[in-house]
Amino acid sequence: MEQKKTILIVEDEKNIVDILRFNLQREGYDTLEAYDGEDGLEKARSGKPDLILLDVMLPRMNGFDVCRALREGGSNVPVVILTAREEETDKVLGLEIGADDYITKPFSMRELIARVGANIRRTAMSAPAARSAAESAMTVAGDLSINTDSHQVFRAGKVIELTQREYELLTFLASHPNKVYARIDLMEQVWNYGYVGDDARTVDVTVRRLREKIEEDPANPRYILTRRGAGYYFSTEA
Ligand code: CA
Repeated sequence: MEQKKTILIVEDEKNIVDILRFNLQREGYDTLEAYDGEDGLEKARSGKPDLILLDVMLPRMNGFDVCRALREGGSNVPVVILTAREEETDKVLGLEIGADDYITKPFSMRELIARVGANIRRTAMSAPAARSAAESAMTVAGDLSINTDSHQVFRAGKVIELTQREYELLTFLASHPNKVYARIDLMEQVWNYGYVGDDARTVDVTVRRLREKIEEDPANPRYILTRRGAGYYFSTEA
């Protein structure tokens, strides 16, 4: 039997934790709970969850700081931010600091379960990264190479740290070089769910983050290029 996946819920409103725990367990997940940011960070490190649902406004340490601390510590666990408001700044900031997804409160339980499932499937598809030498990486363009066995990206032989989503966006575009993808298509192909409202902004933010990491001059990218009015593509012209 497949091992149960564990979801860490970091949320200070007890009634929300209760309803999340109930529904997630009914879907077959194990759950861990934390009611403040510091405890959330501690349980994220000790409990090795498969996904974290992370509220933003938390006592002791806010959700953004928890996510930032996790990423700085090298954790790639999928993080879904629960934002209380329909505020663009919250969503963008969440993605900037390495969250994988966000859900606006109040959310429908069906949507939340779907997002959790999509984010876990994405991670499950990519086998655990084994340390591997830069030599076995395949060059995709210029001085950029990807090792799809170890899930590592190198520029000029040096490892570039990417979040899971950034890695997947890069490998998806790079495996279809010079083909332009609209944001709506990338939402479906890379994010695993259909286009929903203003989610296209998520693609823009992730592209920007990716460029900051892989491009020598993010303002004048040579790998991930924009075709105005059409979308993004991976260029092998470089
Ligand atoms: Ca809260």
